[in-house]
Amino acid sequence: MNDIKTIAEKDRATVLHPFTQLKDFATGKIGDPTIVTGGKGIRIQDAQGRSYIDGFAGLYCVNIGYGRTEVAEAIARQAYKLAYYHTYAAHTTNELANLSDRLVRMAPGKPSKVFYGLSGSDANETQAKLVWYYNNLRGRPKKKKIISRERGYHGCSVVSGSMTGMSFYHDHMDLPFPGILHTGAPHHYWGAEPGETEEAFSRRRAAELEEMIVREGAETIGAFIAEPVLGTGGITPPPDGYWREIQTVLRRYDVLLIADEVICGFGRTGADFGSTLYGMEPDLVTVAKGLTSGYMPLSAAIVGERVYAVMEEAADRIGAFSHGYTYSGHPIAAAAANAVLDIVEKERLGDRARTVGAHFFKRLKERFAQLEIVGEVRGVGLLGAVEFVSDRQTKRRFDPQLKVGARISKAARDRGLIARAMPHGDILGFAPPLVVSEHEIDEIVELAYRATKQVMDELTKEAAI
Ligand code: PMP
Repeated sequence: MNDIKTIAEKDRATVLHPFTQLKDFATGKIGDPTIVTGGKGIRIQDAQGRSYIDGFAGLYCVNIGYGRTEVAEAIARQAYKLAYYHTYAAHTTNELANLSDRLVRMAPGKPSKVFYGLSGSDANETQAKLVWYYNNLRGRPKKKKIISRERGYHGCSVVSGSMTGMSFYHDHMDLPFPGILHTGAPHHYWGAEPGETEEAFSRRRAAELEEMIVREGAETIGAFIAEPVLGTGGITPPPDGYWREIQTVLRRYDVLLIADEVICGFGRTGADFGSTLYGMEPDLVTVAKGLTSGYMPLSAAIVGERVYAVMEEAADRIGAFSHGYTYSGHPIAAAAANAVLDIVEKERLGDRARTVGAHFFKRLKERFAQLEIVGEVRGVGLLGAVEFVSDRQTKRRFDPQLKVGARISKAARDRGLIARAMPHGDILGFAPPLVVSEHEIDEIVELAYRATKQVMDELTKEAAI
C-alpha cells in the first residue's frame, strides 16, 4: 500500500467525491480524506490506525457487519467459477435463480418477477419506466405522473433524483424532471398543527394527496412512491394511521404504490420489510443496500403480479421487454446476496433489530429526552434519530450557521463514533449494523451523549443557548 500522504494526494487530485464541498476539499480546508482500511463487526479502521464504531452501517447498508468471511468466500467461489455472464435473452445462473426465488417468496405485496440493477437510484428509475410501460400497455397513455413526498429520498439519477423531495438534489442540475410531483412529508413533529393527533395528521396528509390527484386529474396519476419510514429526510416513522389512509386514496384512484424499501428492507425496522410492519401492499418494491449488506453493488425492482400480468399479456403484440443493464443479475453480486440473506435468516437479524432496537430507544430516551436542546427522539428497529432545536417549546430551530448537527456528528467522530448529521435541520442519525449488541448500543449512546454535551457547552460559551 502507498503511504498515507501519497494516497491523500492522489485522491485529492483525481477523485470527484459525492457530497463534498469541492473547493474546501481541493484546498485542504476540510483536511485529508479518511482512508478506510478495514472493518470487523460494527467497527471500521482508518490508515492512521484509528478505530470507529460505525453507527450508520456505512450508508445504512452493512447490516451483517464488516468482515464476514462467509460472504467473502461466496464471492470468491463465484468469481473462480464464473465471474460474469449477462441475463439478456433468457440467460441465468444458479445463484440468480435461487436469489430471485427467495426474493419473490419473501417480498411484500404480491411479487411476481425481479429485475436487477446496481443501485437504489437505478432500481427506482426502472420503477418509473415500469409505471409508464404498464399504463401504455393498458391503453392509458396519460396516466404517467408519479407522486413522491417532500423529504423523501429515492436516489439521485434523473427520475429518481426528481422523486427525491429535497431541493438541493435538484438545484443547478435541471431537476425535477416533468411529471414528478411532491406531496407533504409524513412528519408529525414538524408538520402537525398544535394539538393535532397523529391520526388526524395522517388523515390530513391523505386528504392533501387526494386533492392533488383530483386537481391533476386521476387519469394522469400513475404511481405514488414512498419509503415506509422516511430515511434521509430525517429518519421518521410514519404517524399512526398514515399508511391505512394513504392506501385508501391510492386504491380509490387506481394509483400504483411503489414501496422504496432500500433502507427498510431485510430487517432494519425489526420486520422483514417496512411494508410488512405498516400493512402496506405495494405493487412494486425497490430493494438495495441490505440485499447484499454493501458487499457487492446490487439492487432490485420487484414487480408485483398486477403489473407483470399486463406486461406478459402484451408481449405477443409488442415484442421483447427492452430494458436491462450489462450487469443486471451479476452472478457475483447474486452470490453475495444469497450469502448475506443466509446470515440475515440464520441470525434472525430482523428479530434482533426489534429487541436490540427496543433497548436502543430506551437508552436513547434516557440520555437525550431531557436535554434542553432535544426536540424529538424517534425511530423504529435499529433506525433512529435525535433532532436538536434551540427552543423545545416553540420548536425554534438553531441558526443554520451554527451547524449544530454537523458539530455534534464531528464531536462524536472525534470520540470514535460515526453518527450521521442529516439534512433538514440539526439531526443526528443512527443506523448501526443489525449485529450490534446491547453492550455496543450502550457505548454508542454514551459516545453520542458526550459529544452532544460537549457541543452544548461550546454553544453556552458562544452564548448561542
Ligand atoms: N432509496 C432510498 C430509500 C435510499 O435511502 C437510497 C440511498 N440512500 C436510495 C434509494 C438510492 O440508492 P443508491 O444510493 O444506491 O442509488
